[in-house]
This record gives sequence, structure tokens and C-alpha cells, in this order.
Amino acid sequence: MNKIKTIKTKLGNEIELLGETDTAKILVIGVFHGDEPQGKFLIENYIQKQENPRIAFIPCLNPDGLKLNTRTNANGVDLNRNFPTKNWELTDKNEFFGGESAGSEIETQFLIETIEQLSPELILTLHAPFKVVNFDGPADEISKKISDIIKYPVEPSIGYPTPGSFGTYAGIERQIPTITLELDEICPVENLIIPVHQIFDIL
Ligand SMILES: [Zn+2]
Repeated sequence: MNKIKTIKTKLGNEIELLGETDTAKILVIGVFHGDEPQGKFLIENYIQKQENPRIAFIPCLNPDGLKLNTRTNANGVDLNRNFPTKNWELTDKNEFFGGESAGSEIETQFLIETIEQLSPELILTLHAPFKVVNFDGPADEISKKISDIIKYPVEPSIGYPTPGSFGTYAGIERQIPTITLELDEICPVENLIIPVHQIFDIL
């Protein structure tokens, strides 16, 4: 698959954007949180088996966190609280720390630039472990289709405030249909291949 662009993280790991700029209308992102490795496996397994020119992939947004097995990146920032939204705020330094300023992290900047470059019509991010299809922006129909395939319920909101979240940035403030698919982390990741790849195929 074509590498559209790459960037090196603080620890020298690479973030890759894969796909075809001319045809990609959908963006799929894995490993927002380093302790949720399922997305990378499922994306890499998919692109080894087939081509889908409609989708661009970031298999692993947070390779430093993946290596460290932490939710946050190497600066201790929760990338899903670091986006420059109206509700971003400086928070306590815990595992939900949103950074010293909005958009401070290289991973966040990479994703913002990707959205400006591709102008995707739909975005899917792969998380764990809540077994829900969460969405922001105008994504209720596609969320129902995803829910039918994977048998997790659709939840319009995750149930707690998420200032600076990617869903707020892309879905609410930019009105790009943005789905946060929370996968099961108990079952073996191999068991997720069939439903998740079926979801990629209907996007
Ligand atoms: Zn997550």
C-alpha cells in the first residue's frame, strides 16, 4: 500500500498514513491509545489481504504508547484529549491529561494535517474495551450498520465528558461523521477479524 506520509515520534517510532490520496474518502485509525493494540493488528491484517482504494489507514497513531503499553504517548498525553476544540482544557496530569496546550503533540498534529489533506467523508477510530459503537457528528445511519455487524450497541455518547476529544474535533465541530468503535479486549483479537473487516468493506 502506498505511503502517503510518515512522521517520527519522540521515541523515534514511525506513524504512517497509507492509501491513495486521489481515491481515499474514508480514514481509519488504530491505536489512539497505546494500551489498545487491536486496531493495528486488524488494519495490517486487512491491507495484507485486499486493496480498498476508498480507505486511507493510520494503523498506529500512538506507536510510543504501544511500545510503552500506556494509554498516553511518551509525553504522558492522552491524544484523545489533546485536540484544539472549544472545550479543551488544562487538566490534572493523570492518564487523561490533555497536554500543556491544545494540539501540542506531534501525533495530534499529524492527524489534523491528515484530515486537512484528505478531507475524509467518514472517519472510523478503533479503541477498546467498551464494546459500543460511539459516534459524533452525522453518523447515526452508518453506526447502526456497524452495530448490526459487530453486535455492539450504538451509543451517541460515551457517558462522561471528553474535552479535547477527537470526536468533538472532527465529528461535532467539523461535522465529519466520526465513529469510535470500542472493541472487546477480552476475546482473542483473531475473533475480531471477520466482523471488523466486514465493517471496513461497507464503509
Ligand atoms: Zn481508547
